[in-house]
Amino acid sequence: MNAPVLVINCGSSSIKYALIDPDPQAPRLAGLAERLGSAEARLKGQNSAGESFTQPLPAADHTQALNAIFEHLEGRLPGAVGHRIVHGGEHFTQAALIDNSVINAIETTAALAPLHNPANLAGITATRKIFPELPQVAVFDTAFHQTMPPRAYRYALPEALYTEHSIRRYGFHGTSHAFVSQRAAELSDRGAGGWLTAHLGNGCSTSAVWNNQSLDTSMGLTPLEGVVMGTRSGDVDPGLHTHLHRQLGWSLEKIDSVLNKESGLLGLSGLTNDLREIEDAAKQGHANAQLAIDVFCYRIAKSLAALSCALPQLDGLIFTGGIGENSSTVRRNVLALLPHFGFALNDNANEATIRGKEGRLDNADHQGPQVWVIPTDEEGRIAMETRHCLEARL
Ligand code: ADP
Repeated sequence: MNAPVLVINCGSSSIKYALIDPDPQAPRLAGLAERLGSAEARLKGQNSAGESFTQPLPAADHTQALNAIFEHLEGRLPGAVGHRIVHGGEHFTQAALIDNSVINAIETTAALAPLHNPANLAGITATRKIFPELPQVAVFDTAFHQTMPPRAYRYALPEALYTEHSIRRYGFHGTSHAFVSQRAAELSDRGAGGWLTAHLGNGCSTSAVWNNQSLDTSMGLTPLEGVVMGTRSGDVDPGLHTHLHRQLGWSLEKIDSVLNKESGLLGLSGLTNDLREIEDAAKQGHANAQLAIDVFCYRIAKSLAALSCALPQLDGLIFTGGIGENSSTVRRNVLALLPHFGFALNDNANEATIRGKEGRLDNADHQGPQVWVIPTDEEGRIAMETRHCLEARL
């Protein structure tokens, strides 16, 4: 297929899009329709000349926003649409061409992602309405982690919770972990060996990848499990919920909201979820900002050390995501907590590898596990999986 793929990530009140040509040199058109359903709804994006635009779309719904997005594609008609779907449960181990049975399966899985899957489905419904003839492919955040063995995906809970209610660890950020580990296999002389990946953005997760397959990851049934994130707590004592309910009278909704929206870097620093601001505040002596960085880095290192148990051998560690790609401080701190792994950070390379640069952070002749920064490309990966899914059906 020579036509571009339109990648869509549909939230409850937003649609993120990117038009991706098979030629990697071709400019990407990308943007975000946000605040849908409100008077302030608008479409922000970039045209192929790299110029930004904002178009008000008062009270627009998903269908109206998609129509507006299509008008900004500068006549480059997509040959297919690739949808990012958060949860594919155990049903989807790879991307799937969307038909009624796939839609039913995504609906069934919505019990596991009640906030995300219905919003993702709204994007599919709207696109089908506007372009019924365009093939659409669902690419799942969970699919890459479906290769995890039972010892990694089962919780130590009564079996019926798994067999009857699908309660197990699924993992997320699959397109990112898949993209960066595959890219490392291309770039490094180690190939598709044993890689630890750290996707550190607003959401953060770590993963252990062997031979291009995920063997374990830090997120679980939901994206709340694992390392500390922008506003999410990551792992807490499961007894915390009962404690907060009994001692403070908090409802489940309040506990859920605090752990997802008021915790993490924001909760610890008391300032913000933006690591750049936290790093600046820490430099100026803000004790809680420094504590937030310390906890954040320690928990990442601890998670990576734990995940190394999944790998038959350790060939390297990959940092990605807004923090992983930019914060030399976080990378240095995390590696300093793993001295027994034999990493060897080159400080100059660490300081220089920022703002979307791809590169190795240790010296080329280092024999131990390597350290790489690989900017993630989730949209590019979704477009690639969309193409592969369609080509496999020809
Ligand atoms: P999302 O998960 O929403 O895609 P990103 O991957 O863009 O998020 O990551 C956002 C995070 O990256 C924020 O915490 C932001 O502060 C951090 N970040 C971006 N640039 C830098 C930088 N230069 N230094 C430190 N942190 C950065």
